Amino acid sequence: MQGYADLGITAARLADLRAAAEAARSLNYSPYSNFVVLAAVETSDGDIFGGSNVENVNYSLTKHAEELAVLAAILAGAGPGGAWVKTLYVTSASPCGSCRQFVAEFGRADTVVLIDRIDQETARSASLPGLNDSSIEAWTLGGLLPAAFASTDLDRARDEL
Ligand SMILES: [Zn+2]
Repeated sequence: MQGYADLGITAARLADLRAAAEAARSLNYSPYSNFVVLAAVETSDGDIFGGSNVENVNYSLTKHAEELAVLAAILAGAGPGGAWVKTLYVTSASPCGSCRQFVAEFGRADTVVLIDRIDQETARSASLPGLNDSSIEAWTLGGLLPAAFASTDLDRARDEL
């Protein structure tokens, strides 16, 4: 973990990511856990997309905020052969293992992951408070998901046939 500035994120960029995540609160649907997660991704083209968790009564069908932010970027044209996920911002908790793998498909080892450790009362409130630098953890995706399962693993397996 490092300071976000150490990973090339400016306060202005962080504010843009937080604003997109905050706007995605209107998409939140978390009646079962009451656990609100807000996320945003910045693509290598500089575009920013927000996402929020969407639950299902069958818990395993729940979509995570990070997934939906990435999917919003893909629907806008990012993805394989195009823009990649340069930065992921997420509130409330560290991205789960599934989301780390999901983002890795469309990001890189040096994709910056910003975890904003706001509490649930704040996440559910109408607006995020001003930036508190001490609540932001900055990681690289490679640091959060070392030795990730990747397409190169499949390529290697095919070569062995
Ligand atoms: Zn997740």
